[in-house]
Amino acid sequence: MSDTLQITDIKVDGYERVVCGTDSKSGLRAFIAVHDTTLGPALGGLRMWPYESDEAALFDVKRLSRGMSFKSAVAHTGLGGGKAVIVGDPKKLKSEALYLAMGRFIDSLGGRYITAEDVNTSIEDLEIIRRATKHVTGLARKDGGSGNPSPYTAYGVYVGIRAALGWKFGNDDPKGRTVAIQGIGAVGSALARRLIQSGATVYAADRNTERLSQLAAEIGVKPVDETQIMTMTCDVFAPCALGAVLHDESIPKFKTPIIAGAANNLLLEPRHGKMLQDRDILYAPDYVINAGGIINVSVEFNPGGYDEKVSLTKIERIPQALKELWTISREERIPTSDAADRLAERILVDARKKKRAQAMPKGR
Ligand code: NAD
Repeated sequence: MSDTLQITDIKVDGYERVVCGTDSKSGLRAFIAVHDTTLGPALGGLRMWPYESDEAALFDVKRLSRGMSFKSAVAHTGLGGGKAVIVGDPKKLKSEALYLAMGRFIDSLGGRYITAEDVNTSIEDLEIIRRATKHVTGLARKDGGSGNPSPYTAYGVYVGIRAALGWKFGNDDPKGRTVAIQGIGAVGSALARRLIQSGATVYAADRNTERLSQLAAEIGVKPVDETQIMTMTCDVFAPCALGAVLHDESIPKFKTPIIAGAANNLLLEPRHGKMLQDRDILYAPDYVINAGGIINVSVEFNPGGYDEKVSLTKIERIPQALKELWTISREERIPTSDAADRLAERILVDARKKKRAQAMPKGR
C-alpha cells in the first residue's frame, strides 16, 4: 500500500459509502460512490473528466452510481450500483502511477466496489489498475474478461425494439418496419446489421460520413442527413450517439411512434418523459434497453466464469423488464421513464426486506 495514498470518507445520505482518494505522488484525485450493495457488489465504470470542482465531481459520481443501482436491479445482474471518477484532463494526467494509485484506492474498498471501462478509460488503463486490485471487470477475453460489451448492448437494444414493436403494433417482427438510427458506431452498426438481417429497412445518420458510406455499401443502411434523422417518418427512432436528445424542441417534431436506443441519459430533464407520454410515443427507458453490456459483464461473476450462452439468455429478458415497466406506466398513468425508476425501487426495497428477514434470528 502506498504511503502517499490518502482516503477520506464523505457522509452522504442514501449512499452506503462515498470516499475521496488522493495521491500526491501521481496527482490522483478521485471519488468512489458505493450507492447500494443489497443485490451484490457495486459495479460501475471509472470515468476521467476535467471537473471544474470537487462538488461537480461528487455530484456526477453520486448521480452515476445511483443510476447503476437502478440499471443493475432492473436487469437482474445480481450486482449493486457504484461508480468512480478521476478529476483531471485525460490528455495531461494519464500515467501508469496514476492508475496504480487508483487501483490501490479501489482495492481499499475490499471488493464492495468493482470497476470497469467508462468515458476516457480504456482496457489498457484497466490492465494497469488490475496490477493493484483484482476488482476489475470488462477486460479482454484473452485475459479472462467478458470483452467488448458493444455487440451485447446492441443485441439487448434489438430484442428491446422487437418488444416495443409488439407492444405498439401487436406484432414484434421487424420485417417491413423502418428504423432510423442516430449514430452508427460500435452499438449502432451492430444493431443495424441485426435489423437488416430481420428484414427491416434501416436509415442512419452519423457525423462520420465516411463510416456511414462504408456501412451503406457493406450492409445496406440508407444514409440520412444528421439534421433529418430525428424528424423523419419511421416506425422506430433509435438514438445510439449522444444523450440529452429528447427535449422541448425535438419532442414535438418526432414522426415516430417508438423511441428505443442505446444512448445514455436520453431525456434532457425528467419532465421530458411526460412530454413523450402526452404525444403517445412509446419510450423504452435508456438504462433498461441498453443493459446488454452490463449483463454481459455481470456473467464474469458466474461460478464457472464467463459464458456467452448465459449472457445471451439473460439479455433476452430485457423485453420482459420493458413489458413490466410499460404495464406500470399504463396502469399508473405515469411516463415510462418514471415507471422504470419505480420498478427499480421496488426491486431494491423487496431485496432489502428479504435480506433483513434472512438476518433475523429464526423463531422470532
Ligand atoms: P461510438 O462512439 O462507437 O458510436 C457513436 C457514434 O455516434 C459515432 O460513430 C459518432 O460519429 C456518432 N455521432 C456522434 N454525434 C452524432 C450526431 N450528432 N449525429 C449522428 N451521429 C453522431 O459509441 P457506442 O459504443 O456505439 O455507444 C453509443 C451510445 O450508447 C453512447 O451514448 C453510449 O454511452 C451508449 N452505450 C453504449 C454501450 C456500449 O456497450 N458500447 C452501453 C450502454 C450505453
